[in-house]
Amino acid sequence: MRIDSLYVHIPFCLRKCNYCDFVSFPAAECGELYAAYPDLLERELALWQGKADLTRLSTVYFGGGTPSLMEPEAIGRLLSLLPPVTECTLEANPETVDPARLIAFREAGVDRLSLGAQSFDPDLLSAMGRGHDGERTAHAVREARQAGFDNISLDLIYGLPGQGIDQWRDSLERAVELSPEHVSLYGLTIHPDTPWGRALDAGSLAAPDDDLAADMLELAMDYLPRQGYLQYEIANFARPGRESRHNCAYWQRDNYLGLGIAAASCLNDHRFANTPDPQIYAEAIRQGRLPWAEDEHYGIEQIMGEAMFLGLRLLRGVDVAAFEQRYGVSPLKRFRLELWQLRNQGLIECDDATIRLTPKGVALGNLVFEQFV
Ligand code: SF4
Repeated sequence: MRIDSLYVHIPFCLRKCNYCDFVSFPAAECGELYAAYPDLLERELALWQGKADLTRLSTVYFGGGTPSLMEPEAIGRLLSLLPPVTECTLEANPETVDPARLIAFREAGVDRLSLGAQSFDPDLLSAMGRGHDGERTAHAVREARQAGFDNISLDLIYGLPGQGIDQWRDSLERAVELSPEHVSLYGLTIHPDTPWGRALDAGSLAAPDDDLAADMLELAMDYLPRQGYLQYEIANFARPGRESRHNCAYWQRDNYLGLGIAAASCLNDHRFANTPDPQIYAEAIRQGRLPWAEDEHYGIEQIMGEAMFLGLRLLRGVDVAAFEQRYGVSPLKRFRLELWQLRNQGLIECDDATIRLTPKGVALGNLVFEQFV
């Protein structure tokens, strides 16, 4: 089975942010697991020997959690077990990097840095429970440049409780001043089992305003392209040629393998995910078993629906000929009714070659995607 992309989940953080429901644990509370994790990842990779063809791997992505908490040497060791790739991303939090570590990550083979800036507003950063301020983010970008990174992405969150449109505009402007190659935007969702979820339930946190959040996305969609960042996906903007190749692989429904606690994989019709439980994960790997917690085989109808709603996230849209070549039927034929309705609503446009979102469809993407689920 040919694998195009590899995702490696690093589930450690310095502390938990108040909104976070990712599978991540404070590193200080995971002493033994933290020390053993690089070895467990290598063993998990070895379990795929003979089952997965990694020889034509194109991208590697270390996500988390806070992957920049790993030792660069451990990252380098894992990369040395893989073929050379065209893009290797490491997610980093600004307070966990310094010039020496950045140089070491670069030398280990990481060539793209995704920095969790989230905001440049000190009050919002502190309310989120982040461990850095805007100045630290700016320093981290400068240090990364000096370490040789010429491909940097900044993450920003909008729709935060108490965030006004001016604060959002300011964060966008401060991000652009740092000249990253890529900007990813995240609309906040408040999850129940988080400090903010509990505060919302208790009435001590104001519910985010959905209309204001929509205005914030619209502001970014207007501002970032004028600064040279093309919107290539609903929430992702890049300088020409600097799109995230790894994330494009997800949206193109290419084959990707996930390693590590809670990592998800998609191999043709097979979707599965590793257990989020650290003990069960470690035990399975030590016993030579793949640590799956979810395991599902999709039928062709489900695969084609997924290929449509993932592919439509990309603003270039779904390539009709490529879809037909891959799945044996034209999407224009298979989804004739859905496309006709969406077209009448002004949400998509299609011709013989491409199906893509209109500007209205970009703003109301969920109305489009639900047609294909
Ligand atoms: S740094 Fe990221 S993964 Fe870690 S707790 Fe904060 S939001 Fe969650």
